[in-house]
Amino acid sequence: MVYYIFSDLHSNLEALQSVIEDCKMLDQTPCIILGDLVGYGANPNESIKKVLELKPKVCIRGNHDKVAAGLETAEEFNAIAQRAADWTQRALTRENREFLQSLSSGPIDVDGEFLVSHGSPLDEDEYIFTDHEALKVFQHWDFDICFFGHTHYPVIYLLRDEKISIILPKKSGESILIEEGMRYLINPGSIGQPRDRRPEAAYALYDSESKTVTLFRVSYDYELAGEKIIKAGLPPMLATRLALGI
Ligand code: ZN
Repeated sequence: MVYYIFSDLHSNLEALQSVIEDCKMLDQTPCIILGDLVGYGANPNESIKKVLELKPKVCIRGNHDKVAAGLETAEEFNAIAQRAADWTQRALTRENREFLQSLSSGPIDVDGEFLVSHGSPLDEDEYIFTDHEALKVFQHWDFDICFFGHTHYPVIYLLRDEKISIILPKKSGESILIEEGMRYLINPGSIGQPRDRRPEAAYALYDSESKTVTLFRVSYDYELAGEKIIKAGLPPMLATRLALGI
């Protein structure tokens, strides 16, 4: 089975549309969404509409979804994220707020093939940024492959004989072979707000037959997404960071 893996869409309609156009097999391939559909960008309702049209096989919630849905307060957020969360709460239709409220928390097992979580499988709000944090997850949760998001940073952590190594994707379309006896924590990167100093939207494709994961980047109109952010009265920094990929 082949799966598209999308994460951290963050109300960025332009990025989401470009990714959908890039995914040629989307009509016959299940897609899995790792959370943070909203927050930061100017099109939360339109982005949720697109997500619903995709009929994702699995869609879990992220921390921004929880706050936008009113399930949690924004007190853990920095000032800019708080302002964006307030704006998103006000902008969401009742239907879409209820949709966000209905999303499951991770981790979730998909077809016995892999695990998905927004942050760490140990705690959906916890970030996996370092080897040490990845090792803790490998030691405390049983899986061979886990896709996660939350950091907006595409990376693959591998565990072999209790030792961690890292693969940082270099170019779009690069496939990595999943090897027997090794364990993997894979972050496809963010569609709507990449933070690895590249502005292109990021996503992944996993093929459980050929045991390969492929990481993609897609350019999109981040200037238009940024203009909408400014026009909406959201913090201007949210527009500039899209252009810089930070
Ligand atoms: Zn996020």
